[in-house]
Amino acid sequence: MANSSPEFEVIAKYFTRPAANAVLGVGDDCALVDVTNGMDLAISTDTMVEGTHFFPDVNPENLGHKALAVNLSDMAAMGAMPYWAMLALTLPNVDHAWLEAFAKGFFDLAQEYNVSLIGGDTTRGPLVMTVTIMGEVPAGAALRRGGAKVGNDIWVSGNVGDAALAVAHRHGLVVLAEADYHEAVMRLYEPTPRVALGQALRGLATSAIDISDGLLADLTHICRLSGVGATVDVNAVPVSSIGAKHIGTDAGRNAILAGGDDYELCFTAHPNSRDSIEDLTDVLGVPITRIGQIKRGKGVSLLGSDGKPVKIDGRGYDHFKGP
Ligand code: ADP
Ligand code: MG
Repeated sequence: MANSSPEFEVIAKYFTRPAANAVLGVGDDCALVDVTNGMDLAISTDTMVEGTHFFPDVNPENLGHKALAVNLSDMAAMGAMPYWAMLALTLPNVDHAWLEAFAKGFFDLAQEYNVSLIGGDTTRGPLVMTVTIMGEVPAGAALRRGGAKVGNDIWVSGNVGDAALAVAHRHGLVVLAEADYHEAVMRLYEPTPRVALGQALRGLATSAIDISDGLLADLTHICRLSGVGATVDVNAVPVSSIGAKHIGTDAGRNAILAGGDDYELCFTAHPNSRDSIEDLTDVLGVPITRIGQIKRGKGVSLLGSDGKPVKIDGRGYDHFKGP
């Protein structure tokens, strides 16, 4: 294709920026990066599909932010330092206002984390965006899902549930006040990846995961890969002031515990690490809350204030089962 084609115009105009931390960025057949000695290369990909991951009416600037944020969150969950991103974009047509806004959302966040866009692919079709992120973590020090041990504490950063409450509101399952919906939906559209926290947890956390499918589902992944069970004190799960209004209802509790898209970190650590972890709250300005314990056995049990099991309907999002 000639260089004046719309495809190359899109790449040149919206996605070609200096890549200070790469040997070679956008423009050649491959990008080139120099991986630091003694570091493992951490790599992850996440795709967002219209209708599955976002409502068709979402603002493209929010989409640009989210496409990168969900990938930065995977870096956070491994304790990795993000450096490089690739963007595969499938677009129904060339809409300059859309591209301008999408690129702004993407690059504003990329700049905040010193991440360079070093390549990608641009094709025509239904709206789909795939970001691949690459970063570094000291060899052997990555936080994995499989390291939780019986007796470990379970912790979660920030608060959970607002994003899922916004989705539940859109689906008519809960009713949020208008101002609450507007606040909650921003957690859905512009999640904050806990990158600094993930790196600070190296050497402290025994396992970690980012909450994309829901606290319950993601903690279940830790349990399965670690060969352990978990109990979670439902009343200890940190919620926002919006979440606090809805956790008393079945649908609200369901969204908060089983709904996804929070991009907070859930991790486990030895009880000896409690003080060090609590210190991180002050250093990083991110609340971190202890919500339960790793036990022998399998799966996650939810306990209410009376110590009795709490049952919820949802078990987290599965693409081939639906919510
Ligand atoms: P090829 O034909 O070798 O697959 P392309 O024509 O798809 O290369 O892309 C040309 C250059 O532009 C490559 O360096 C590629 O990585 C980059 N690129 C394409 N699309 C994007 C995008 N959406 N964002 C960033 N870089 C892109
Ligand atoms: Mg290509």
